[in-house]
Amino acid sequence: MTTKGSCMCGDVEYQFTGEPAMKALCHCIDCQKWTGGAFTSNAVVPRTSFQVNKGSPKAYDITGDSGKINKHFFCSNCGSSLYTELEIMPDMTVIKAGGLDGGAASLGNAIGAELYVKDRVSYLQSIDGAKQEQKM
Ligand SMILES: [Zn+2]
Ligand SMILES: [Zn+2]
Repeated sequence: MTTKGSCMCGDVEYQFTGEPAMKALCHCIDCQKWTGGAFTSNAVVPRTSFQVNKGSPKAYDITGDSGKINKHFFCSNCGSSLYTELEIMPDMTVIKAGGLDGGAASLGNAIGAELYVKDRVSYLQSIDGAKQEQKM
């Protein structure tokens, strides 16, 4: 199974194969800043199953809570937040699910975990059945 995604302007297209290893919301401040939203929804996939098919995303590095680098990839034309590569998870790509096409942005309505719930905006409720993590 192949799932495709793209940025807002269409300069960047990417895909991953198979099922995500994890589907998680992240409420951390970096995710809020980077997207302008209250949280990110993420499909965490093996890096070997992910590829960029079109365009060359730019990357911005920030040091995460862990003290390690979190690489943020985005479209240099339209600014869409695309995916992150975390030094602490060298084998995984963390795709921002809002960019997934054909309804896949919903992640099948099956969120396994919520991360950094300590930073969750107070108007949002926790998701029934999703693991609630204070940090990662
Ligand atoms: Zn774009
Ligand atoms: Zn985050």
